[in-house]
Amino acid sequence: MCKQAPNIYDLNLSELQSIFASLGQPAYRASQLWQGLYQQLWATPEEFTTFSKPQRQTLSKYVHFGTLSPKQTLQSKDGHTIKTLFKLADNNTIETVLMSYQTRRTLCISTQVGCPIGCAFCATGQMGFIRNLSCGEIIEQAIHFARHLKAKDEKLTNIVIMGMGEPFLNYDATMEAIDILNHPLGFNFGERRFTISTVGIIPMVEKFARQKRQVNLAISLHAADDDLRSTLIPLNKKYPIQDLMQVCEDYIRITGRRISFEWALIQNLNDTPQQAKLLAGRLKNMLCHVNIIQLNPIKGYPFKGSDRERTEAFCQELRRNHIHCTVRLRRGIDINAGCGQLASQSIKAQPNQPML
Ligand code: SAH
Ligand code: SF4
Repeated sequence: MCKQAPNIYDLNLSELQSIFASLGQPAYRASQLWQGLYQQLWATPEEFTTFSKPQRQTLSKYVHFGTLSPKQTLQSKDGHTIKTLFKLADNNTIETVLMSYQTRRTLCISTQVGCPIGCAFCATGQMGFIRNLSCGEIIEQAIHFARHLKAKDEKLTNIVIMGMGEPFLNYDATMEAIDILNHPLGFNFGERRFTISTVGIIPMVEKFARQKRQVNLAISLHAADDDLRSTLIPLNKKYPIQDLMQVCEDYIRITGRRISFEWALIQNLNDTPQQAKLLAGRLKNMLCHVNIIQLNPIKGYPFKGSDRERTEAFCQELRRNHIHCTVRLRRGIDINAGCGQLASQSIKAQPNQPML
């Protein structure tokens, strides 16, 4: 194995073609490899039976067949949620969660080890920022679970980029991962089946709007005024709500696509009638939907998720103002399936690095 051998999942089809060309091999060989990786979901060189044994040996000298290794897997009592902690080549860990609802198989993937934003209520945020994931490390999470499902004759139906980290601070690797998973000759996972969640990095939302992708956009709002939002999400001081709302309106105008706003309901904090009214005012006439989730309790954050009564009252107030909203179920709470909760137990806390 040559020292600098890349992770095969970091390469797109034309990069693979260049490697084959440099080995004096025809381009169709790269397509065969691509199909083996993303259609057959083969994991090791030995499985690539479309290549001769010497060819497989040559191949394994030039590329690594993946770098993630599952370290721990937990299943919720109801069996609907599976969470895997993966070890990366540098011994850092990330987590990925598979949620099964009726016919849906939704995978929640990570884009960073830790996160530099440091939201008060988030286990990943409390961990600090360690590094960005490569495009290959993002892709491998999906391929690992696609293989797991294939063994049961099932397939992933949706991928939500809502695991550890802020995807819009690792923009290029995240988009490259989407492009590779979307490739029609490979995994062929439609853009509309991805949802990317951001805390609202304004220049990146603008860039995303200009690209007019079919990927769904979710914005983590959690508060409707700057004072409260800044206590929950420190980045709000840099990108205040008014500016964020403006860029959301621009996004909808440019793309014609609906935005989902995420709201983790925290008892007696952001679940008040005043917050609901303020939110309804901000979202009036906007092509959007509000996803309400009760806060997942985490160590080191003293607040609780809202109870049913307050959750219901909050939604009623939004609906009374003609804002569409859905209360999402908290899944896998018994296995710490909330963002970053498992990995943060296995990684020593690190101080946050400066934002951006
Ligand atoms: N950084 C991105 C995506 C990862 S976080 C973002 O913030 O949008 C994915 C979602 O989980 C966000 O909406 C985030 O606010 C939410 N979240 C984080 N910690 C939570 C908790 N303890 N309870 C409920 N939701 C939480
Ligand atoms: Fe980062 Fe999102 Fe967690 Fe905030 S909620 S710390 S942006 S991962």
